[in-house]
Amino acid sequence: MKPSVSPYFTPVTLTNAFTVDHQTLTDGLRAPIGVGELTGHQNFCGIPFALGQPGEKNVILLENHGVHIDVDTLTATYLIFLHAVEDRVTNYWPGLADFSVDGNELGDLVADYTLEYADGSVETAPILRRFAIQQSRIAWGASAFAAIPALKPGVFYTSTEEQILGNWARRPYGNGETRHASGRERSADKLWLYALPNPHPAKPIRRIVCTPQKERALIYGITATTLTDHPLRAGIRRKARLTLPAGATLNKLGELDSVDIDLGVVISARAAFDYDHARWLGVEPVVLPAKSDQAVLIEYTAHPQAKLYVATGSDTQQVYDLAALTALADSALIAVAPAHRPVTVRVVEQASQQPVAVRIHLHGAHGEYLPPRGNHRQVNPYWFEDNYGEFVNVHNQYAYIQGECVVDLPLGDVYVEITNGYEVKPVRTRVTVTAETDLLTFTLEKVLRWREQGWVTADTHVHFLSPTTALLEGQAEGVHVVNLLASQWGEMFSNVTDFDGRSTLGAQDFGGDGEFLVRVGTENRMQTLGHISLLGYSGQMIHPLCTGGPSESALGDPQEVTMAEWAQRCIDQGGLVVMPHAPNPQLERAADIVLELVHAIELMTFNPLNPNNIQVNPYGIADWYRYLNLGYQLPVSGGSDKMSAASLLGGIRTYTQLGDRDFTYSNWMAATKAGNTFVTVGPLAELRVEGVAPGGKVTLPPSGGSVNVSWKVESVSLPIDQVEIVVGGLAVDQTTVNKGLTASGSAQITITNSTWIALRVRGSYRGKHGEIAAHTSAVQVLVEGKPLFSPKDAMAVLEQIEGAIAYVDTIATRPAAQRFKQMRATLEAAHNRLHQRMHQNGLFHRHTPLHDHMQSHEH
Ligand SMILES: [Zn+2]
Ligand SMILES: [Zn+2]
Repeated sequence: MKPSVSPYFTPVTLTNAFTVDHQTLTDGLRAPIGVGELTGHQNFCGIPFALGQPGEKNVILLENHGVHIDVDTLTATYLIFLHAVEDRVTNYWPGLADFSVDGNELGDLVADYTLEYADGSVETAPILRRFAIQQSRIAWGASAFAAIPALKPGVFYTSTEEQILGNWARRPYGNGETRHASGRERSADKLWLYALPNPHPAKPIRRIVCTPQKERALIYGITATTLTDHPLRAGIRRKARLTLPAGATLNKLGELDSVDIDLGVVISARAAFDYDHARWLGVEPVVLPAKSDQAVLIEYTAHPQAKLYVATGSDTQQVYDLAALTALADSALIAVAPAHRPVTVRVVEQASQQPVAVRIHLHGAHGEYLPPRGNHRQVNPYWFEDNYGEFVNVHNQYAYIQGECVVDLPLGDVYVEITNGYEVKPVRTRVTVTAETDLLTFTLEKVLRWREQGWVTADTHVHFLSPTTALLEGQAEGVHVVNLLASQWGEMFSNVTDFDGRSTLGAQDFGGDGEFLVRVGTENRMQTLGHISLLGYSGQMIHPLCTGGPSESALGDPQEVTMAEWAQRCIDQGGLVVMPHAPNPQLERAADIVLELVHAIELMTFNPLNPNNIQVNPYGIADWYRYLNLGYQLPVSGGSDKMSAASLLGGIRTYTQLGDRDFTYSNWMAATKAGNTFVTVGPLAELRVEGVAPGGKVTLPPSGGSVNVSWKVESVSLPIDQVEIVVGGLAVDQTTVNKGLTASGSAQITITNSTWIALRVRGSYRGKHGEIAAHTSAVQVLVEGKPLFSPKDAMAVLEQIEGAIAYVDTIATRPAAQRFKQMRATLEAAHNRLHQRMHQNGLFHRHTPLHDHMQSHEH
């Protein structure tokens, strides 16, 4: 849509006053480039001007003598001048730096602008350099004080948003995230708008006289207004909710593009969020708003007399008078109470009354997000962009705070949600803000006491955050151990210099309180063979971070190592080896588990609160069961693989029972290896088989027997549907909990063959039937003389190892001969080990042709 023009201005005709053609001007007077057309009817910042015609005299050059502009009988509150003074070299100091044309100098009397009234009286205003006028070429930081650049501020989409809209990014990455540019930044050269106040607005003006004084200057245009508020002063942010007129449409982002304000800027015009506030105040664990396709929330800055224009077709538009804006619910454009009251928001823990780090969301009566100061109005959900202490769950946006923040709030109802992990009762409420509200205090109650019973939580998989932000998010999510993983994405490296192979942020040894820890490890990655997370190891970083070419390592990199070699180095350096985001990539992980180089398998979910995501991946669970069925008693862990604000740190998390250990990072690793863990997106789960916890073994005589299985589950918000006792991968006992938050039970289970037992908890954030919400690690139940070995699963695992060998042999980029031999030997070792177990268990099988071929080729 064309830039809109305010109706409150009358351009002054300068035809008889123009002295030169601006095209003929040179050096410091040359016409500025990039500020728009400088002839004919133009508008600058929504203000219309009648400029001169091309190819003739079209600008007033003030030099030597004054210029008279007859205006007949003009009445005005302000006369707006579009002008510039000649560039000049700044003279900072005798003998120093006298070559810079930076516009830093100020105060010279450039000209006098005089108003001659019809009654013969006159008023003269001095036009001082850098006050009312500035030169066209300036350096950063040399703005004028009483004049504005002739271009409005601009508003931009981020780079990713531009790509969603099918555009090449108009602003580069990073710069795009600022979402705006001042008028000053939008062109290299400038013209300046100055509003000359008329001290006698009631008296008709007969003539304007512009008289040069100490410098040369150019006047391109003059326009008059009767507006009483200063026509160039920027307004502060306001909001309105617009019901879209017929013909207006939203873009792919759900934003209204064809919208403008004449004397102001539309900051954003985004689909409004409609909350059901009765549900908000209810017990549902997640309440999301509906994104409207009928209404937008417009945030804007404008002059009090500005008008809003919305395109309704290619050359039609609807105009709204922002001066007449009301809060009446039935108007098409509703004033939304502006968030102008700074209020301190404090969150304390009930028992101690001490501030507690939390994740917080606030919105106003019209669904408008109200970010704490220092946070985005629109949280950027995209990969590797804006990696700060924020989270966005579909349309609900959140900030992480250290127990206190300042939020600019509207007067009236404000809706709040505050959470702190899976043992603290979440708060979702409404408060009323008045003109006297300075402080809002919320109290959080810890209702589950699993930490007190030796359980600590961890996210085994976080990327991109700074360690300090990871610590804050861990505290606010109740995640005691955050594993921040450095890695490589092609030519991009992340968190590499946050790794020192030594420090645990938050640990008492490093000045912390020891209750929340961040440790930087690495996720070493390659596309085909797989990814592996190396946590908490000491000493040198294990390189290569990634190998084997794109998209994990860089194009042209050789396939230098196997994951098994990475794992062995991590073990040698005292670390914990986790196979991330089961089940993929499925390939070498099979070999490494067979080689017993893996300490835990990770189930990953970016954000279990998002109704479009899976809470706990059933394919990952199935993959894990396969190894349990072969007797590899891998504990389960949970990690978010957080790489953006759309992902929830600790959304899926590991609970580890410390046992008798104190809580330190290395004890957490040891306890996790010991295997009494569970993975959860909400409910907490405890299991005993004959009094033995997950990670342990129960032995039965050759005839088998009956074992007692007892369990307990508790949840602060996610309703539990069903609790299942899983034996060898199949549910053999189910307890229906019917959306309760707590349950316990026990059962006698008959066992005839060696197997394993674990607890699986079903329940859903969105009431989806059958979703898995938590899963414990397994207790092995071994019947003497009967090995825990599933032939079917052995075949599937062997085939993966053969696949890894095939890849290394054929299309993997080749390293030096010695490295290649070593890699192949590692994979062969895994193959042989499993192969032998298969034969020991009487399993005869067909070897894959590719593998047979390779064997004969080798020999
Ligand atoms: Zn990965
Ligand atoms: Zn990752």
